[in-house]
Amino acid sequence: MKEVVVATTNKGKVVEIALALADLPVKVLDLSEFGDIPEAVEDGDSFMENARLKARHYARYTGKACLADDSGLEVDALGGMPGIYSARFAGENADDAANNQKLLAELTGICPEQRTARFRCVLALVDIDGTIMTADGVREGMIGQELRGLGGFGYDPLFYMPDMEKTMAECSKSEKNEISHRGQALKIMSKILGEYLK
Ligand code: IMP
Repeated sequence: MKEVVVATTNKGKVVEIALALADLPVKVLDLSEFGDIPEAVEDGDSFMENARLKARHYARYTGKACLADDSGLEVDALGGMPGIYSARFAGENADDAANNQKLLAELTGICPEQRTARFRCVLALVDIDGTIMTADGVREGMIGQELRGLGGFGYDPLFYMPDMEKTMAECSKSEKNEISHRGQALKIMSKILGEYLK
């Protein structure tokens, strides 16, 4: 069994990742099993750079293969913002409500056809010998005019998917895992890792 440390303390993400890799000869560990590790500094200027630097950082500190993700929302009318700044769009300690209000404010006067957006998730897996594997998952949608739905987190209540006729926050957990950017990236990574471990 290959041990892979998931570089997050978010239990929900660990469970989702463990489920996605369940068919592989992989034992998923999480960071809480390694005591105090200094947090990685996410100072890259793309999701890819941040995911790679996080995976490298935690592989170095744990001595094991490490899988990291970086994700966020890209809004076309805002030139791809908030992008890597998604968690702190409305300020350093902004919560989801503040970020959503800021997004609505920034899009005031923008018509529905121009409110296209996508969630993006990049996964990077760094093995102990330095081998690096990456996967990029996207979910297209558009930014609504008001919050809808109580599920999920972050920008989910504003992320309307015309093909599903609902927002991400109106999806069940399993539905979201199936169609989300993270779900897509995990499917790709699972294939790549399966080949790598053969
Ligand atoms: P992280 O990379 O998972 O920490 O996500 C960074 C930020 O992107 C979050 O704080 C959210 O604002 C946003 N984000 C990432 N994934 C999602 C999602 O699935 N739904 C809603 N917001 C998300």
